[in-house]
Formats: sequence, structure tokens, C-alpha cells
Amino acid sequence: MTNYVAEIIARVKAKNPAEPEFHQAVQEVAESLTLVFERHPEYVKAKILERMIEPERVVIFRVPWLDDKGEVRINRGFRINMNSAIGPYKGGLRFHPSVNLGILKFLAFEQVFKNALTTLPMGGGKGGSDFDPKGKSDNEVMRFCQAFMTELFRHIGAYTDVPAGDIGVGTREIGFLFGMYKKLRNEFTGVLTGKGLGWGGSLIRAEATGYGAVYFAAEMLKARKEGLEGMTCLISGSGNVAQYTAQKLINMGAKPVTMSDSDGYIYDEAGFTDQKLTFIMDLKNIRRGRIAEYADKFKSAVYTSHDPKLDHNPLWNHKAQCAFPSATQNEINDKDAANMLRNGVYVVSEGANMPTTIEGVNQFLDAKILYGPGKAANAGGVATSGLEMAQNSMRISWTRNEVDDRLQKIMREIHRACYQTAEHYGTPGNYVNGANIAGFLKVANAMMDQGVV
Ligand code: NAP
Repeated sequence: MTNYVAEIIARVKAKNPAEPEFHQAVQEVAESLTLVFERHPEYVKAKILERMIEPERVVIFRVPWLDDKGEVRINRGFRINMNSAIGPYKGGLRFHPSVNLGILKFLAFEQVFKNALTTLPMGGGKGGSDFDPKGKSDNEVMRFCQAFMTELFRHIGAYTDVPAGDIGVGTREIGFLFGMYKKLRNEFTGVLTGKGLGWGGSLIRAEATGYGAVYFAAEMLKARKEGLEGMTCLISGSGNVAQYTAQKLINMGAKPVTMSDSDGYIYDEAGFTDQKLTFIMDLKNIRRGRIAEYADKFKSAVYTSHDPKLDHNPLWNHKAQCAFPSATQNEINDKDAANMLRNGVYVVSEGANMPTTIEGVNQFLDAKILYGPGKAANAGGVATSGLEMAQNSMRISWTRNEVDDRLQKIMREIHRACYQTAEHYGTPGNYVNGANIAGFLKVANAMMDQGVV
């Protein structure tokens, strides 16, 4: 690491205390960029990275709403406008009790690089609230979403900022948010993505992040003349990304054997099938139940409840070749990474954002496995959101095959950009450097063209 990069990291930590996830995200990118700054001092002179770590704008607001008992509840809402050099801000909304400024800044920062990799014109943003949809009635979720939008609507727009879903924000929440936006603005625009298919949504948007993570894994394997067929795969999470990752893996002849939620995980040695996955989708998306119920229904499965005293996650301690972390940040620590390597995992494709700690990432890189970082591997979701925006602008809908073909092409292109950039900068096979550098160059060049703004 050069002094310049070390100083930037030290400054980020001093200026933004209590935001450890943001420090981590900046550190990972800044270390890769050392390779760029050695060759291109013009970016250093223009202070591009210093500008990129400062959000263009942050909005924090009160969200008061009434629960079913008539009690007043108050949550905090956020929207981070991180970077608009290559397009309107774009990135999801997360509703989860852990949400705070540092977590959303890390997500918004990563989003800038990810969106640049998609080849589509989208800047980076992120937002959300510490509201927990779990255990709330549909009416409570609706009242919260409406209250949230009565402030957010001032700050978003089809040419300004186009939010989407993330943890805790699926089609139900996007529907309530869109309904209130439309009422307040008196206009029907594609200002949110992940909309329902009957009112402006795109086919394959729901599937896109999970499918994309599998396509990215397949591309990494293809570069070694291998394929996914017959591979045993570990998946964490059981939400949107996990479900469609499992679906595509089954479809491609692989064998996914685990899924989880915050209470525990299931291990089904026989592997999930389409029929078992239908049960999980109904359990999670309709009945909104816990993953433990899977083991009651299918006797081939073992359920292990989450033990906060453990220093590792037993989900990552099974024999497998591939891993698709699809729950949340920092869910793979150094112990987990060591367990995975020992158990034969040599393909990691991150559906979640920053699911691996820096120590874990370093182990994957040292072992030279096929490690696809989130900004590249899970970019299929936002890319398909970009395709939803394109369809809304043209007032047409593409078929399922058309959208899926475009998604596959984009994932191939992202893989190519990461692979070739890593090689060009002297670190072949290092997709972390490839993704960070390729994403940075696109945004940095736009910022250079646009002057100091
Ligand atoms: P989701 O549908 O809400 O599902 C999240 C899953 O992860 C649930 O099973 C949840 O379990 C589990 N989870 C969440 N927070 C957790 C925590 N702190 N500890 C343990 N388990 C936790 O969300 P999603 O859309 O699938 O998102 C999953 C990951 O993918 C996130 O990192 C997100 O940023 C990333 N991502 C999503 C998209 C997208 O298009 N949706 C795109 C790119 C990246 P519980 O139900 O028990 O909380």
C-alpha cells in the first residue's frame, strides 16, 4: 500500500468514526487502486478517490407511523446520493433493524463501482430504514412505506435517483412505495425498479441477482474450461437472492445443499429440487415463516439453529465445491474462509454485498480460488433494474428470453472486464482488483471530463 492510499484510509476512519463497514469497503477498493495510481498520477492530482468517498448528498429523515394498535412508532429513513458521474443515482432500499449511516454508505460506495461495471448509465446510491418488516402485518408495512415515501419523494425521480429493493424490500414493499410516490407526484414514471409485472416491472428482475451470481460463477469456471454441472453448492440466506441462486443452480445441474435465515440453517445432503424450492418460496414469500420448517417437511434435511457464541458459521463447514453467500455483510470471517478451503470450496460467487471480511478475502486470494466479489458477481440485479428503466422509457416490455439474454450478456461482459483488467494490472485471476479497477476507471474518467463538481 502506498502512503497516499494509507493516508486516505486513515482519513476516512478519522472523519467517519463508528462506520466500520464503510471503512472496510473503502479500504478494499483503495488497496486495489494502488496499482492504478502508480500508472496514472492524474487521478491522484484530481483527487478523484477523495471525492468518491464523500457522498454527493445524504438525506436523513424521521418516519413516524401508526401500528395496528394505534401506537405511534418512529423510524429513521436515509437516502445516500453517492455518485452521479455516469447516470442518475441507482441502488436499493434496505429495511432492517441493523440499518445505520455507515452500512448504507458502504453499500452506496460499492454500488458506484458495481453500476459502472454493468455497462449501463447508472450512478450509485442506497437508502433504507431501521424499520423491521418481520412480524409486522401487511397494513403496518403499508403505513410505514407510505410514511417513508412522503419524505423520500422529494429527493427521487426518473432522472435523479431511482431506488430498488434490497434486504426487507421486495415486491410488496415496492408496490406500497410506488403507490404513494404516484399519488404525491401525480405521475406514472419508472421511479422505482422491482415493480410488479402488471404495472411497469420487468420480467427476470426478481430472478436477476441470483441468476447473475450463478452466471458469473459459470463464467469464472469457463475460463478454466470447467462447468457447474455436478457441483455441490453452499448457499446462505433464503430471501430473493438465495432462492433464485438455488433455482438457477438446479437448472444448470448443480446441487445446492444449504440455506439459512437469521435463526439458523438447513443442510439437505440430497440437494434441493424444484419441488423443495417451491416449498421454500411459499414458506418465505407467502407465509413469511422460518427456514427451520423445511426440516420438519423434508426428512433428508438437518436444521441447526444459530449459536451466537460460535466464532464461525457451521453452514460454511460442509464439503462442497462452490459457495454463494446470499444473506448479508461479513457473514464469512477468517475461520469460515479457512473451513471452506479445507472442505474443497474453490468457487465463491457473492450474491450478497461484502459478505466476506477482509481477512477472509485475503485467504481466498492467497489460495488463488475463483473468487467473484459482490460488486461483480451480484451486479445482475441492478443491471436488470437498468433494463427495467430502459423498458419504462420506451413504454414496451421485453420477453423473458430477451431480458435473460441481455442479463447473460452483461454478466459475460462484467466477467471479461474484471478478468482482463486484473491481467492488465499484473494480478491475473484477481477478480477483486479487476472489479475495483474497471469500475473505478469508468467513473473516474467521467469525473475528469466533468470538472470539479
Ligand atoms: P431478502 O430477500 O430480505 O433476504 C435476506 C436473507 O438474508 C434472509 O434469509 C434473511 O434472514 C437473511 N439475513 C438478512 N440479514 C441477516 C443477518 N444480519 N444475519 C443473518 N441472516 C440475515 O434480501 P435479498 O434481496 O435476498 O438480499 C440478500 C443480500 O443480497 C444482501 O446483502 C443484499 O444487499 C444483496 N443484494 C441484493 C440484491 C437484490 O436484487 N435483491 C442485489 C444485489 C445484492 P431473516 O429473514 O431471518 O432476516
